[in-house]
Amino acid sequence: MVKKINSQSIKLIKFYSLINYNLIYENHYINRYKKNKLNISGNKAKNLKNLETSIKDIKNCELKRNSTDIVFSDGHPNSKIMIIGEGPGAEEDKEGLPFLGRAGKLLDKMLLSINLERKNVYITNVVNFKPPENRKPTEDEIKRYLPFLTQHIEIINPKILILLGSTALNAVIGNKEVISKVRGKWIQKKIGKCTTSIIVSYHPAFLMRQPDQKKMAWIDLKMIRKKISELKIKIEK
Ligand code: URA
Repeated sequence: MVKKINSQSIKLIKFYSLINYNLIYENHYINRYKKNKLNISGNKAKNLKNLETSIKDIKNCELKRNSTDIVFSDGHPNSKIMIIGEGPGAEEDKEGLPFLGRAGKLLDKMLLSINLERKNVYITNVVNFKPPENRKPTEDEIKRYLPFLTQHIEIINPKILILLGSTALNAVIGNKEVISKVRGKWIQKKIGKCTTSIIVSYHPAFLMRQPDQKKMAWIDLKMIRKKISELKIKIEK
């Protein structure tokens, strides 16, 4: 006996052929918890998660009130090269990742010029929530987020720490320094329990406004490239 196919079944058949039924009948489970994809040690992953949770729990913070969600970090947590920017902008706030806008695109190009990609470094910001109207974080906000940033540096334990712009410079080194004076030098410093080689360079957003300063940023990038080779830093893939 031939079974009649009703119109509902015809619609389903058309739908499945349209969207490639292999995708539906694939016989493997979907791993939505790709925890060990990056092969991070359990402790590091746990410490990063705990830190993210404590930042998310911050109370009475204008930055948090103004934001969609936290922008914690991007890149490889095992990387020995850590980059610190200022704070998320609108695009970063929407997507939950640092350095996605125009400044982020320039940062990607700067990294590429010394054969690095985002996945080879670890990127975060001084503050993890978007300041209103794209303003700089205030001194008080920088102070408030500094213990989080210190913990973040301790957990990543980088051999090279790149500070992009005056906000990162003020937070990590102090506010008596001027970026034009401190850039292009290596500074050995202990931050919490982590002793690291720091280099300060211009923020990509500043370089977009002052393209003539890109030549100075290029000097800094070459210094970073040389340091990576001197310290025999393994590039995480
Ligand atoms: N996006 C960030 O995540 N940080 C910056 O400092 C600038 C843009």
